[in-house]
Amino acid sequence: MSNFDITIIGSGPGGYVAAIRCAQLGMKTAIIEKYDTLGGTCLNVGCIPSKALLDSSEHFHNATHNFAEHGIDVTDVKANIEQMINRKNDVVAQTCNGVKFLMDKNNIEVFHGTGSFVNNTTIKITDKEGNESEITSKHSIIATGSKPNYFPGMEPDKKRIITSTEVLNMKEIPSKMLVIGGGVIGLELGSVFARLGTKIEVVEFENTIIPTMDKTMSKELTKVLKKEGFKFHLNHRVQHVKNTGDGVQLTALNKKGEEVTMDADYCLVAVGRKPFTEGLGLENAGVKLNNRGQVEVNDNLQTSSPNIYAIGDVVRGAMLAHKAEEEGVYVAEMLAGQKPHINYDLIPGVVYTWPEVASVGKTEEELKSAGKELKIGQFPIKALGRARASMDIMGTIKIIADKETDEVLGVHMIAPRAADLIMEAVVAMEYRASAEDIARICHPHPTYSEGVKEAALAATENRPLHI
Ligand code: FAD
Ligand code: NAD
Repeated sequence: MSNFDITIIGSGPGGYVAAIRCAQLGMKTAIIEKYDTLGGTCLNVGCIPSKALLDSSEHFHNATHNFAEHGIDVTDVKANIEQMINRKNDVVAQTCNGVKFLMDKNNIEVFHGTGSFVNNTTIKITDKEGNESEITSKHSIIATGSKPNYFPGMEPDKKRIITSTEVLNMKEIPSKMLVIGGGVIGLELGSVFARLGTKIEVVEFENTIIPTMDKTMSKELTKVLKKEGFKFHLNHRVQHVKNTGDGVQLTALNKKGEEVTMDADYCLVAVGRKPFTEGLGLENAGVKLNNRGQVEVNDNLQTSSPNIYAIGDVVRGAMLAHKAEEEGVYVAEMLAGQKPHINYDLIPGVVYTWPEVASVGKTEEELKSAGKELKIGQFPIKALGRARASMDIMGTIKIIADKETDEVLGVHMIAPRAADLIMEAVVAMEYRASAEDIARICHPHPTYSEGVKEAALAATENRPLHI
């Protein structure tokens, strides 16, 4: 039987990054993955394939909507969904192979099969053919991630009632698709198909889309997506969805309690994800779950079984790849005797629509309900020279600072490349910058980043230069 210092179960961004850091710190490391490819949800059916399709569909949208104004005449532009999916699959394969390369480079032993605890130091691995083997490990990290969630009445049949996994492998461009849930997945993957010509109708339980983000962002994004052809049914509670053979029929209750029926070719269920712990044999190792089905961990990500840790989507907190990665590094460094730290208040969140929405820190609503007195600066993207040059004029940048100290408490933006722009705010907030600190930094011209400076000027002394 092989013995390891540490074994990681699950090879998503949490697991594989933890493995690399453990190996870098001199631990004899193993990783167990039940699927044939490494990389988990993120690389196989999440972040990477969704962004590949978002980019392809954006090219198509630009060709059909914006090229002519740029003076580029193209005729007979067609979307070839088969080629889009093939390219996406190539990107996924290259990225997953990259993880395999990193495992080999760091001398990490990879086992393919389902990992299950026999006790807190022995793990059984069952491969696809049902062959079983066992390894022992001084420490383990559970990094088994999450799966799509759904509620009674909207059970995915994976044919017409589908989850993010199936929508990433569509064989056709539907004429109409219903999306249950106006969160990140619904809006990103809805955008892909809206740009390709699908009529997208979002059925959302709350009174706004992206309900956990700053309300200014929800409002702006609603405007942007309506322009892209999205239709929103807010305050609608889904009762049931049925596969009608060549389509779907959804019934929901609107705000007044009236029954509303909608038909479409497909229904994408995107109402969140749930932690995945099936088959792990947690009871054999004394690992407890909390009442949300997440592996219970303390501030050091240690489970109720002291030599077993857990990270990523399977534990509390944001279900984001970069959060999982930070937690993987944290556990590795802590086991090596270092004193790592994660600032959970400054984990940025991004919605990869176009323009993108990005956010860090607290929302205006959270700060106001905590009784904070605020200064808020906002700058419209359309006032930037760079935005007009590239015809990307939708969006706004909002900086929220403490009224008395001027410390930046939250930055929210909907802007071209907001996913990259937000990092200026993350760095500033990590060093507890004031809005004036950002406003006094020289920003390159012409860039979208000038909008961050202008919003900071607006927040600190209400003196933006270009509006
Ligand atoms: P996962 O990536 O879920 O990996 C867990 C792995 O464990 C899987 O490979 C699974 O097969 C394996 N496993 C489970 N049980 C066992 C077992 N018993 N034995 C062996 N292996 C096991 N996040 C972002 O930050 N940015 C994005 O743009 C983004 N886009 C997304 C788009 C979509 C469509 C989806 C679905 C998710 C997206 N996410 C995004 C979320 C992101 O994918 C997750 O937060 C991230 O993958 C979590 O990483 P993880 O390591 O915790 O788990
Ligand atoms: P989400 O939590 O972002 O959104 C779910 C939405 O569904 C919410 O708006 C919620 O109010 C709504 N909802 C819940 N129950 C409903 C019901 N019964 N009827 C109608 N609406 C209902 O979840 P998601 O979009 O499924 O994404 C899952 C996770 O994946 C998220 O936690 C996210 O962090 C991660 N993810 C991240 C990215 C990214 O970082 N860009 C992209 C995709 C997914």
